[in-house]
Amino acid sequence: MKVLVIGSGGREHAIAYALNKSQKVDEIHAIPGNPGMAEIGTCHPGHVEDLDSILKFVEEHAIDFTVIGPEVPLCMGLADLLESHGHKVFGPTKQAATLEGSKAFSKDFMKRHHIPTAAYQEVHSYEEAIEALTSFDYPVVVKADGLAAGKGVVICENESQAKLALQEMMIEGALDGAGKTVVLEEFLTGFECSLLCFTDGETIVPMVSAKDHKQIYDENKGPNTGGMGTVSPNPFLPEGMEEILKKDVLEPFMAGLKADHMDYRGVVFIGLMIENNQPKVLEFNVRFGDPETQSILLRLDTDLFDIMYAVSTKTLKDIDIQWKDEHVACLVLASQGYPGSYEKGKVITGIDQVDEDIVIFHAGTAINQNGELVTNGGRVLNICAYGQTLEETRDKVYQAAKTIDFDGKYYRKDIGLN
Ligand code: ATP
Repeated sequence: MKVLVIGSGGREHAIAYALNKSQKVDEIHAIPGNPGMAEIGTCHPGHVEDLDSILKFVEEHAIDFTVIGPEVPLCMGLADLLESHGHKVFGPTKQAATLEGSKAFSKDFMKRHHIPTAAYQEVHSYEEAIEALTSFDYPVVVKADGLAAGKGVVICENESQAKLALQEMMIEGALDGAGKTVVLEEFLTGFECSLLCFTDGETIVPMVSAKDHKQIYDENKGPNTGGMGTVSPNPFLPEGMEEILKKDVLEPFMAGLKADHMDYRGVVFIGLMIENNQPKVLEFNVRFGDPETQSILLRLDTDLFDIMYAVSTKTLKDIDIQWKDEHVACLVLASQGYPGSYEKGKVITGIDQVDEDIVIFHAGTAINQNGELVTNGGRVLNICAYGQTLEETRDKVYQAAKTIDFDGKYYRKDIGLN
């Protein structure tokens, strides 16, 4: 089989790495991919939002199966476009992807299908928002409806902060129109975690747990990032939580998909807040998380291509998904300054000197004119390792983090601890 992976991050490298282990996958292609993916497949220039060019590529290269990594092409309808031309795809349709693409749509779905979530109100103008604010306590959460690459959620401690956030989103158009509609939401307290599942719309199979570390600094301080590292299993998940999540969240979610005739075939990534063993859904993402995927897929013991093909053809119930009973850690090496501004083009050394059992996924890297591997993004590399215990896997990734070097290298020291 010839498989195409759409995307260029550590997540897509991890997907390509797992697919490359399949006996059924003969060739891996990527648009646009990254230097790490180029070691196991062929990377082709292109843009993940250029749907017509991707369709043309699939037809010209006789691609058998396409895996869509990021949310933007999913929300634009790439899965629908490829399927309407007879091509097999892993990733939900545009309608289903709206569960991530519109927070108002997602909240309405949760409300109608009795999925536990924070109380909310959808508003369409600044005046309406100001009026609605009177029925919320502080802090209140102001959420732009559309995709905003992590910048669309503001937790406001008081009325003046809420008014400012609303003014920026609804009057000044700060998020390119993503904030024309806003969801005002009750602030939830508790323990935050996520659950990733495969689903073909009929069957839903949770993956093993993973704990991510969103803030840039140790002890969960500083601004949020795309994610600074993960460990799997999640050492903080309360005992028995899997069963509660199945009953309170997954069952009504699947019933909701059926009732709404939603064609959902792919991954659903459920963001949750848990208090007193009661989960509430913060958000649905319609794709693998980054960097959760890196840790989770390394623990997968079943052929990823078989799972993805079964999802695409609605036969997931026939697959028995197995996981390794080991711990995995994934540590993100970032560029100094991230998530703010940072420099690119710093030469990366030491990758070939790390221990053999370390797995490195590329995220923001490039090859420069001299053929050297250089930094090309905020999150540069993901260092992953297996271990019998969390301590062992942490030791391994931190050892490798010292070996690999580039000017301005930054990483958190407490992955898996806080
Ligand atoms: P964007 O649309 O900008 O990409 P996102 O999809 O990441 O943002 P959410 O996951 O809904 O948005 O929210 C981001 C973070 O804000 C959450 O991970 C959580 O920490 C916090 N948050 C969101 N909603 C609430 C809430 N109701 N109560 C408390 N914290 C919340």
